[in-house]
Amino acid sequence: MSIKNVTVAGSGVLGFQIAFQTAFHGFKVSVYDISDEVLEKAKAKFQNLAERYTADIHATQQQIDATFTNLSYTSDLAESVKDADLLIEAVPELPEIKIEFYKKLAGVAPEKTIFATNSSTLLPSQFSEFTGRPAKFIALHFANEIWKYNTAEIMGHPGTSSEVFDTLVAFAKSIGMVALPVYKEQPGYIINSLLVPLINEATQLWANEVSDYKTIDKTWMIATGAPKGPFGFIDMVGINTAYNVTKMTAEREHNPVLQKVAELFKNDFINKGKLGAATGEGFYKH
Ligand code: NAD
Repeated sequence: MSIKNVTVAGSGVLGFQIAFQTAFHGFKVSVYDISDEVLEKAKAKFQNLAERYTADIHATQQQIDATFTNLSYTSDLAESVKDADLLIEAVPELPEIKIEFYKKLAGVAPEKTIFATNSSTLLPSQFSEFTGRPAKFIALHFANEIWKYNTAEIMGHPGTSSEVFDTLVAFAKSIGMVALPVYKEQPGYIINSLLVPLINEATQLWANEVSDYKTIDKTWMIATGAPKGPFGFIDMVGINTAYNVTKMTAEREHNPVLQKVAELFKNDFINKGKLGAATGEGFYKH
């Protein structure tokens, strides 16, 4: 199975990065979103992204020009997948939206097209029956700012073919990612299976006033050599997302300390407009 033409569905926070990174590495990329208006906004974001590539990874003007030549845009789903060897789905993290999307896609995509979901928290087995091609359906999970934090976790569901799995490992490498195979379905893949418990323990130490957040981060960073501590990560992920995940976990586990953490996030951060690195301030100033 060789991949030449790629469709990226959804041009939001992650979708437009995946499209640009793939086009930057020489693939023809069709960007699909729900309307021409949304796609126009995405085009403006691509210009900013080009500047980040130049600043962060020293991309040359020639590489940037070639990347733009490889990108095309359409809000017609059938048109966007007509030649696709691979479709990467980065539509909102809501099961009903993804299910509707896969049902529609299954009706218009050529038989050869592999479908890959970038979902952070949902499992591919939740959607495989709606794809019309379970053997060619897989998860390919990127991290935010993929040109710098270049992890690509590749995870099938029980019905994914081994050929498709190997094809995606090779594809991830060919777009400059470090390919990280995940051999069993696991909510949160590797990264969030490690990061979420770390963050939950750190915030409970903080809410219980065992220590302050700067000391907790300092302990983790000095003792392990990590460049950031758990509260530094929370700022990067965003306090809104941290709040949603903490609140859900607190309710599921009937954990009063995590409930207190959620309240602290809401009252001391969200209500004061401190949403993390994206807005300039969270636990730290950025
Ligand atoms: P987002 O809300 O920023 O973007 C979603 C995009 O999908 C928007 O452009 C929207 O117009 C479009 N869209 C909505 N309905 C659609 C439909 N029916 N068909 C096609 N496009 C549609 O979301 P995001 O943060 O980019 O997340 C997208 C996916 O990537 C999610 O599954 C998320 O879990 C995953 N992800 C996000 C991050 C992150 O840091 N944001 C990291 C890794 C993975």
